[in-house]
Amino acid sequence: MKVVIADKAEQMLIDELGAMGCSVHIDPSLDGDALGACLAEQDASVLVVSSPKVPAGVIDSAGEGLRLIIRAGSGYDNIDGSAAAAKHIAVCNTPGMNAVAVAELTIGHLISLDRRLPDQNAALKGGRWNNKEYSKARGLKGSTMLVIGAGAIGQQVIQRARAFGVEVCVYDPQMTRDEAEGLGVERVGSTRDDLIAALPRFDAVSMHVPVVESTKGMCDAGFFRAMKDGASFINTSRGAIADEPALLDAVGSGRIRAGLDVYCDQPSEKDTAWSPAIAGVEGVFCTHHCGASTDQAQLAVAEEVVRMVGLFKSDGTIVHCVNGIA
Ligand code: NAD
Repeated sequence: MKVVIADKAEQMLIDELGAMGCSVHIDPSLDGDALGACLAEQDASVLVVSSPKVPAGVIDSAGEGLRLIIRAGSGYDNIDGSAAAAKHIAVCNTPGMNAVAVAELTIGHLISLDRRLPDQNAALKGGRWNNKEYSKARGLKGSTMLVIGAGAIGQQVIQRARAFGVEVCVYDPQMTRDEAEGLGVERVGSTRDDLIAALPRFDAVSMHVPVVESTKGMCDAGFFRAMKDGASFINTSRGAIADEPALLDAVGSGRIRAGLDVYCDQPSEKDTAWSPAIAGVEGVFCTHHCGASTDQAQLAVAEEVVRMVGLFKSDGTIVHCVNGIA
């Protein structure tokens, strides 16, 4: 069985796939037309990708042998699942494998926003000691946080925030009151109106939803207006769920602060010049879409990919299908 990996990969993944008799072609530079051409040339049955986009054009130009596309991670918005389904190709992800890593980064942002760690660091590195300015922080204990999207990552965030004494509530229309109680948190309702009505209560709001039609732009001007003055907005999910100009206005006015790992129109290159307006605003602290990028998470994802390819190779079993064909 031919497997194309269009990304850098753990050596363990390459070794284990080889040991189970797969022929592995790995090329982290594959993207766009080159990816489609490579899939056809290799007559690949399985494609493993992390960040490269897999649009309809790539799927159409892949050979007829392609049966399975594995997104080595949680979000799969870089893959056209409908185009794949039309050719009876399963699109699968590796749910939950990087949840702890993203939750850890989220808590990092939560603390950074309260203590302004990036500003403090920049000031000292720039030759300024300002104990007066940076001695102002609220502290996390007893503060309130709304976790929006209580799936694999949201639940890890809940656990960790509660360990800091934060009073956590959830907004997730798919979660029942009983399930929320099981996690030891209050559910703030299930409609957009419930969400907007609840927002003024929270010192921090953290986003953990997938990007789908109903979540695109869900954090709009009305959402930011409803947030409490001085609150923190954390987005480690996807840039597209926030209306970036509205976020820029809300932070630029000094009303809220934001900790961001993801951006609208972020580059697909790994290392390039890029200066989005949002990154230049005081009160915005930025990371480089690195939520899932810990060694632990990458290894857990690789182990899951090995398991998934193994199942598929042995009897065609497909797990974690997200485009409805298995
Ligand atoms: P998940 O599928 O386990 O959980 C998503 C949750 O969102 C579900 O419980 C779902 O019911 C809920 N949801 C859906 N629509 C909603 C809405 N309109 N309002 C509130 N809740 C809603 O996914 P996950 O593994 O927790 O990942 C969440 C997202 O995080 C991914 O889709 C991905 O975009 C992003 N992510 C980012 C990184 C990173 O590096 N920053 C890494 C992994 C995942």
